[in-house]
Amino acid sequence: MGAFDWFWKAMGAQSERNDKKSKAIVDGSAAATADLAQLDDAAVANAARAAVAAGAIADKPAFLAALAVASQRTLGMAPHHVQSQAVLRLLEGDVIHMATGEGKTLVGAMAATGFALTGKRVHLVTVNNYLAGRDAEWMRPLVEFFGLSVDSVTEELDAKQRRQAYQADIVYAPVAELGFDVLRDNQITERSQAVQARADVALVDEADSVLVDEALVPLVLAGNRPGEAPTGQITAVVARLREGQDYVINDDGRAVSLTDEGARRVEQELGIDSLYSEENIGTILVKVNLALHARALLIRDIHYIVNEGKLSLIDASRGRVAQLQRWPDGLQAAVEAKEGLEVSEGGRILDTITLQELMRRYPLVCGMTGTAVEATDQLREFYGLRVSVIERNNPLQRVDEADRVYATIAEKNRAIVEEIERIHATGQPVLVGTHDVAESEELAAALHEREIAVNVLNAKNDAEEAGIIAQAGDLGRVTVSTQMAGRGTDIKLGGADGADHAEVIALGGLAVIGTSRYRTSRLDNQLRGRAGRQGDPGTSVFFISLEDDVVRQGGEDESLSARPDASGRVDSKRVRDFIAHCQRVTEGQLLEIHSQTWKYNQLLADQRIIIDERRANLLDSDQAWQELSQRAPARAAELRDAGLDEEVLERAARTIMLYHLDLAWADHLEVMDDVRESIHLRAIARETPIAEYHRIAVREFKHLAQDAVDKAVETFNTVRIDAEGAHLEDAGLSRPSATWTYMVSDNPLAGSGNSVLRGIGNIFR
Ligand code: ADP
Ligand code: MG
Repeated sequence: MGAFDWFWKAMGAQSERNDKKSKAIVDGSAAATADLAQLDDAAVANAARAAVAAGAIADKPAFLAALAVASQRTLGMAPHHVQSQAVLRLLEGDVIHMATGEGKTLVGAMAATGFALTGKRVHLVTVNNYLAGRDAEWMRPLVEFFGLSVDSVTEELDAKQRRQAYQADIVYAPVAELGFDVLRDNQITERSQAVQARADVALVDEADSVLVDEALVPLVLAGNRPGEAPTGQITAVVARLREGQDYVINDDGRAVSLTDEGARRVEQELGIDSLYSEENIGTILVKVNLALHARALLIRDIHYIVNEGKLSLIDASRGRVAQLQRWPDGLQAAVEAKEGLEVSEGGRILDTITLQELMRRYPLVCGMTGTAVEATDQLREFYGLRVSVIERNNPLQRVDEADRVYATIAEKNRAIVEEIERIHATGQPVLVGTHDVAESEELAAALHEREIAVNVLNAKNDAEEAGIIAQAGDLGRVTVSTQMAGRGTDIKLGGADGADHAEVIALGGLAVIGTSRYRTSRLDNQLRGRAGRQGDPGTSVFFISLEDDVVRQGGEDESLSARPDASGRVDSKRVRDFIAHCQRVTEGQLLEIHSQTWKYNQLLADQRIIIDERRANLLDSDQAWQELSQRAPARAAELRDAGLDEEVLERAARTIMLYHLDLAWADHLEVMDDVRESIHLRAIARETPIAEYHRIAVREFKHLAQDAVDKAVETFNTVRIDAEGAHLEDAGLSRPSATWTYMVSDNPLAGSGNSVLRGIGNIFR
């Protein structure tokens, strides 16, 4: 903690006060609950409404009591006191820290109901489509009890269904869909085409994943445009390069660069003078570097899989296929070329928004997760959010064993297999958390050799993962899973029906094994949290080797001497302290990457707000017509004389203005993207890249609005306008006929993500 001691103390005092206050309120609600339970449904719902005054919940005990009675009647669950406390903290706008299996789904629905009763529309943000649908249906009876409406938005809904769903008081939706709808709604030319309705609150489930881990993932809306030429010849040349001689990978495995020898070889084979000449540096060198990246740093089955002739990225922090994700266009094409796949069509990026930017658009954000405390710094720095710790309903019975440390990965892996075999022989269920798909498969193969049946949960059987993880507590079951696969699914001991519950409890509950520490202790704790749910017994233990990534990266500048025993074990207090230190270093690095990247994003986020306001103004008023007729009075008079309706003219003007505004914004994003990728080239002595980036962004933006209006005037003067409106297509100015959405893998926690982007940055250094 060190320098932050004072802060933690202050935080502690704060949450204790909150705790006392909310405990008193919840105690007060118990008596009210008994009284309300005597009344009929309508009277209970009325009591909740009566507890609301002036847009806030005035009588909290009465409100909690009504929810408790309704929950019992509609869902068969009487909320625990800790759950009611959590509801109060959410209503205050905190992120609650509440362990896995403690019933956050119910808590979220109760808090959302509270917001909705005060007239606020809530988006309940989930991490995937499955959970959005499941939770909306599960919680529907509770919400409807109060005469409120609930719906979910999932990937497969069309625009009309979405529009309908967004009207509900409480909308469950995966974060990506919420963002895609924002982007699409920023392309409309009539207000009635909008899909999303205003929301006041974002209540985020798995808040640390969405708000921290994936915060910088850009959501992208692209439109069609003929593809650019693939890099066939370059790919072939790069494929022949030799590691060590022609190129070197740096220690952290995040960047690769050509050696002088390699550069010469490429120049020779491509028949060019110099890769680094003025004319080649922005074109051929970029392509060579992308191909080299694809070749040397992106490994099949770790960073991506090839399935049915198509490339799918693996989101390493979740260890699953990221269906919607692509790398930036050039890199995507380079990997496709490397795998000999058809290079997918490039498009034009119309708009993009990061999850962090998306979440900051909500007037109020609150959230829940089992690992909020560990994300306190990020939640405060990036969102101004406080963390409230909610106690467990039943005390934790899980035993977290000390790390077992080995000198080498091979010795560690042998020990893991032996430990699984030992536990499995007793019948106790084992859940193993690995780092990536390749590791899962290797482990499964080793276990098969010992005739242990394993359920492997990973990117390749994505669809079934909720079902499989639900069985992880069965007697004698061994499940191998990448981080976070199947999250949101409750693991019940002794089978879904609980038939063998007592037996599994007697065996010690679920045994969780981690195959190495993650780069943040938060992810370690998420894995541990799978065991010991709701006061069940359970164990957790991590196996570590001094060759693990975390140790290598975090301990880069330090050396540790340790004498292994016969089995290769080296753990001592000193070694464990060293490993904890390494993890703190990698955590610090992640926070630093996040801060730095956000600095690049922030200015664009601010600029977007200005564009949004302009857009809304054009959409909702006759502003476009006013401006255009002022700038081109002769043309305006001509159109009026042609007997066109005022309404037709306003619509035509709006279409023209919006077309050019959107185009200018897309151009701006493209320019800034190029600037960002090549900033190290341009950075002038003594000017930091970020300052340079800001300077360019401000300069470019200054002219954006004016240029868009100038172009609109030009179009207004020349394009055919009749009763059907402005015929932009005549002038080759139509909007893309097809659009699609995707996420760019840019996740600092994912080896495949930010490393790639950073790596591209490194090329230029
Ligand atoms: P979390 O999201 O916190 O991990 P869930 O919302 O998935 O937990 O709930 C875990 C399990 O606990 C579910 O099976 C749910 O039905 C059950 N549960 C939650 N709250 C209660 C309650 N008050 N009484 C009984 N069962 C509950
Ligand atoms: Mg949950």
